[in-house]
Amino acid sequence: MTKSTTGVRVRTESGPRCRWCRRVLPEQKGAGRKRVFCSQACRQWDWVGRQRARELKLSEDELVVARQEIDSLYDDLYVLACAVDDTERELKAGRPTVTSLKEAMEWILDAARPLRDRTLTPSGQHE
Ligand SMILES: [Zn+2]
Repeated sequence: MTKSTTGVRVRTESGPRCRWCRRVLPEQKGAGRKRVFCSQACRQWDWVGRQRARELKLSEDELVVARQEIDSLYDDLYVLACAVDDTERELKAGRPTVTSLKEAMEWILDAARPLRDRTLTPSGQHE
């Protein structure tokens, strides 16, 4: 974490990341085994994914994900892309007002929020 000029905390995209969800890992204090997952859930999903890859004779780097998960991810990405396009258009068209900027910001945040909270999970665990 660093401080921006406005005093708002912003997350720096450096440091080791969770092997499953790719979020930056919290700083590790003291000695001990190096952390590779941010949570027990991520450790579990990674294990399940590897297990599943082994069953299907895939490599360790391949992952089976349900089409529905990918579809839903693409849906969210599409909404975000629309929000970005609209906002870029808004900014290019003359002088944006505080109200229009606020609206654009809300639109982008609404579109980005589902992606912030998303993690993918391996398929084949529901039989
Ligand atoms: Zn994680």
